[in-house]
Amino acid sequence: MKNTIVGILAFQGSVAEHIETTRFAASKLKMAVEIVLVRTKESLSGLDALIIPGGESTTHYKLCVEAGMWEEMKKIGNIFGTCAGAIMMAKKVAHPGVGQKTLELMDIEIDRNAYGSQINSFAKVLKTTLGEIEGVFIRAPKIKRVGAGVKVLAFNDKEPCACEQTTGNKYYLAACFHPEFTTPLFHEHFLNRLLKSPRLLKSPRLLKSPRLLKSKLSPRQE
Ligand code: GLN
Repeated sequence: MKNTIVGILAFQGSVAEHIETTRFAASKLKMAVEIVLVRTKESLSGLDALIIPGGESTTHYKLCVEAGMWEEMKKIGNIFGTCAGAIMMAKKVAHPGVGQKTLELMDIEIDRNAYGSQINSFAKVLKTTLGEIEGVFIRAPKIKRVGAGVKVLAFNDKEPCACEQTTGNKYYLAACFHPEFTTPLFHEHFLNRLLKSPRLLKSPRLLKSPRLLKSKLSPRQE
């Protein structure tokens, strides 16, 4: 029986909130999840999934390239990106930073900083397919186009702001807002999908009683 290993890209942004929400969701689902903070190419190996937090996508890009892990990230089977993380996953990005590239994994076109500058950040109640939540939009992007294989989980007004895509045996989940601040629903949804992924289907470790499994954070990673 194996733990589900979830990496969280940990250069910047809402890393602590993702750790806490992932732990909470895992405990609710009684899943044995091990969290690994990802800052090196080595720490990507053996992951079942990766979470890319918000922050600044140009900085994420630069640091991932410097760490030599850019191409390796594309191979991860299950990825969940919030805000800057969602930008990183898009096939096409409008208003990229100078030299900025994306992982080009999800068939979506996303527009960076589409609501304006930091001062135009806002929070609002969103009806999502997972339930009603508070969406926190911080210098958020807008999804301008979704491909045929992409399922929209939430709209802000008429524009998609959360979506998912399964392609082959890969699964991607993206939100323009920050669910890690307000709700465990998206993390639960993501972890639930992991339970269905071929590698884990064989023997995911389920906890007998809901308790928090301590994340394994090596000293090098802390
Ligand atoms: N504006 C940021 C970017 O372009 C995203 C902001 C966020 O993650 N809250 O990457």
